[in-house]
Amino acid sequence: MCNDHVVLRNDYPGQICSIARSLEVVGERWSLLIVRDVMNGRRRFDELQKGLGVARNVLSARLGRLVEEDILERRAYQRRPDRYEYFLTEKGLDLWPALVALLAWGDRYSPGPNGPPMLIVHKECGGAVSDRGTCEACGKVLHARDARPVPGPGLAKAAVNAQALAAR
Ligand SMILES: [Zn+2]
Repeated sequence: MCNDHVVLRNDYPGQICSIARSLEVVGERWSLLIVRDVMNGRRRFDELQKGLGVARNVLSARLGRLVEEDILERRAYQRRPDRYEYFLTEKGLDLWPALVALLAWGDRYSPGPNGPPMLIVHKECGGAVSDRGTCEACGKVLHARDARPVPGPGLAKAAVNAQALAAR
């Protein structure tokens, strides 16, 4: 029996390259967005599923792989039925500079019509985080735990537009 499903491999045989090796771990569709959401405080399966709008089986598979790769850690917050929350390991937190760089790159080359939907700020002083992961206000070199996301102008406008659409 044949079907039309194209199964994409997630490895890059023949590539002797650290970027390819990184992509084998986090390059699957949704994986980095899951890491982003967990970094932003979404921890539970349903929260992640709702926020991403991803199919449950796909989310489950991606979470499993991220745990297997020691990027996420699963901790039970309820028993019978077992329910888990996801936390980033140190290895997962080390993806922060990559996410910051991708965010800045997207804002620069694929900007939304109303500006950036999300800004990252230094928790301590409120300064904007640069694409190099430093604080533009105080100059400190930052790590994942030093920063937090705040809604940007693009998100505020998008929310207003969604409300306007819903009110029609
Ligand atoms: Zn600062």
